[in-house]
Amino acid sequence: MTHSWRIYTDMDGTLLDHHDYHWDAAKPVLQRCEVERIPVIPNTSKTAAELLQWFPRLGLPTFAVVENGGMVLLPKNHEWWRTHRADWSEGEVAGKLLGRPYMDICAWLDAVRLAEGFYCQGFHDVDVDTVVAWTGLSPEEAHQAKQRQCSEPILWEGDADALKRLMRAAQAEGLQLQQGGRFLHLSDNTNKATGMAWLEAILPGKGVTIALGDGGNDVPMLEAADFAVAVRNAQGTHVAIQQPQTYFTKQAGPAGWAEGLVYWLNLEE
Ligand SMILES: [Mg+2]
Repeated sequence: MTHSWRIYTDMDGTLLDHHDYHWDAAKPVLQRCEVERIPVIPNTSKTAAELLQWFPRLGLPTFAVVENGGMVLLPKNHEWWRTHRADWSEGEVAGKLLGRPYMDICAWLDAVRLAEGFYCQGFHDVDVDTVVAWTGLSPEEAHQAKQRQCSEPILWEGDADALKRLMRAAQAEGLQLQQGGRFLHLSDNTNKATGMAWLEAILPGKGVTIALGDGGNDVPMLEAADFAVAVRNAQGTHVAIQQPQTYFTKQAGPAGWAEGLVYWLNLEE
């Protein structure tokens, strides 16, 4: 192996199947990464509480970027915490906020929605059962998805013109709306590339990064990585990106994840 690879990966629709959240097709390549000590770092719109469940399931070390770049997670015993205070922690994992806190973001959404008459619902508006219906998550997983620190998934029920107005209002506030697989994500001006850059700055040595994703919110990460994998999405297309080192997968979901990652890992310098 000629590279010191580091893998940053989207979860839903990329490492996990868009419909059933399975990852069987990715297992052999995940095992290869473990054997070759290549860190696989989730970079996701999921929450820290959700990731705590996924680390052991996927056999991954507890590094991650969550909520679309709004927070980074490190093991609690990582040396960085000797000189810095955590904004969130549970079990053996601690988190550092890179974006504005959740309460501020929801308060802004409530105010602008009332003032402008926008039709939309966020996770903070609804109960666990509704999140189950929206996502297909189990009640337990939906509960974890509602434990948010810095971003709000929004189900848009208005028209395209109103959505443009919401986007302009968010921009004026220093917030942003990003399109994910199912939801719009309202957050501070952080994104998956912000989180990846933050981790790259504190991880040892110079890594060569491979990023994998299937959605619009993955584009900054895919473009900032040394190598990118655009995984075929649920609609059968790929994201449009300005990144010459991109492999576009033939397969979708975890099969595409494995296909694209093997393509770059097998590339000799
Ligand atoms: Mg995705």
